Amino acid sequence: MTALELAGRLHKREMRVLDALSEAQKKTQALNPSVNAVTEWEETETLRAAEQAQKRIDEGKPLSPLDGVPIGVKDLICIKDRRTSCASRMLADYVSPYDATAAAHLKAAGLLLPARCNMDEFAMGSTTETSVYGPTRNPWDLTRSPGGSSGGSAAAVAAGMLPAAIGSDTGGSIRQPAAYCAVTGMKPSYGAVSRYGLVAYASSLDQIGPFGGDAADCAALLDILAGPDGRDATCSGLPAPCFPALSGDVRGIRIGLPREYFGEGLDEEVRARILEAADIFRELGADVEECSLEGLDLAIPAYYVLACAEASSNLSRYDGLKYGYRAEDAETPDSLYRRSRTEGFGREVRRRILLGSFVLSAGYYDAYYKKAKAARALIRRGFDAAFRTFDLLLCPVAPSTAPRLGESLQDPLKMYLSDIYTVSVNLAGLPGLSLPCGLDGQDLPVGMQLIGPRFRDELVLRAGDAFQKHTRFHLNKPEVKRA
Ligand code: GLN
Repeated sequence: MTALELAGRLHKREMRVLDALSEAQKKTQALNPSVNAVTEWEETETLRAAEQAQKRIDEGKPLSPLDGVPIGVKDLICIKDRRTSCASRMLADYVSPYDATAAAHLKAAGLLLPARCNMDEFAMGSTTETSVYGPTRNPWDLTRSPGGSSGGSAAAVAAGMLPAAIGSDTGGSIRQPAAYCAVTGMKPSYGAVSRYGLVAYASSLDQIGPFGGDAADCAALLDILAGPDGRDATCSGLPAPCFPALSGDVRGIRIGLPREYFGEGLDEEVRARILEAADIFRELGADVEECSLEGLDLAIPAYYVLACAEASSNLSRYDGLKYGYRAEDAETPDSLYRRSRTEGFGREVRRRILLGSFVLSAGYYDAYYKKAKAARALIRRGFDAAFRTFDLLLCPVAPSTAPRLGESLQDPLKMYLSDIYTVSVNLAGLPGLSLPCGLDGQDLPVGMQLIGPRFRDELVLRAGDAFQKHTRFHLNKPEVKRA
């Protein structure tokens, strides 16, 4: 069931909220030992919230179209009085004293937040292998990665533990795991959803967004998550709600297929599935044409310079003093900082802090950081030019299907390069929807990406929803092996 289908049954009183919650919990208990998608299941507060939701439903006054639905939340979005660890030793004991604005919106809409979802440490990664809780496994093939960094959120939905989940996307962390796990995931326009209470990785790129059973779920969730927030100066909310825009109609919409995104390095089967999807859009009446999009060659270097630079600054707050992990028996302040940070952060996070500090240092700032900012401007201009002719762009999410666990840890550069089709969207602040479009020869899911102009999230979702109203790729579910 999708989140909206479950809500429909709850609101028609064909099913009780407590039963839906306990079914989700049973399914999680049964499958989580194999998948390791969920790191915590909160009972007390969730049961109370479920009873209140049932009462509202009985009185015919649901707070939102998703009132009473249990979902998962990635472990870097603060929920009051709950552990928010970022899957890091550094924050292993951190209990948040406040709700992130996104969490507050979800609660105000009546959703239940029982499950914390696994992730790469501090959201730095593409495979969910750097978590202190151990790697998440792909429900389609337990020897493979679910993608990352929001791999726990995607895998929990794919395995059917929860109908929907919330993640964050700095360079692809919602869209890429959605593609590897065959669920639908949306990275909203930068500024659509407040980042207040989202633990910062790279502030100019981070955005919270939904995973669901289909584009309609994502639209309903995004309408709940979005909204202006005085506590995040970069957040303006969305100009138009997304769910009402789902007309099922893409006739006359101009969709560009950027040639550069189908070039060398793209797996043949991934290419084939996406071109088949393009044909389906043509049959539905969209105008689909090849186009050119400048800047792809700059995307990875620009992203990894800027993301690491911002990360090195954001993560400087974990100094072993204010909160977070503190090394024992340090003798001088200097050794306290050094040891707390060395012991509290994992290898990948330390690597990024070092890279970021380097590109920001006096002798290299102009050569790296400033250049990356100029590249970012070029990438933006490339999209601006494409959107003068096209309403949307259709392209791959990742060059291949899910990699085997362990592969990327040995070769971080290769892992960085696999973000090639997602990071530009963050650099330009655009909305990107990732949705399933079939399987490869090994029965692994292939995802496609629809990109729209900034703040046209409703159009991106409308196209994705129209595609899903006429196809069945999103209904494909894995048979999860029990551990
Ligand atoms: N894989 C990218 C990175 O490691 C993106 C991660 C993300 O979006 N949080 O930076």
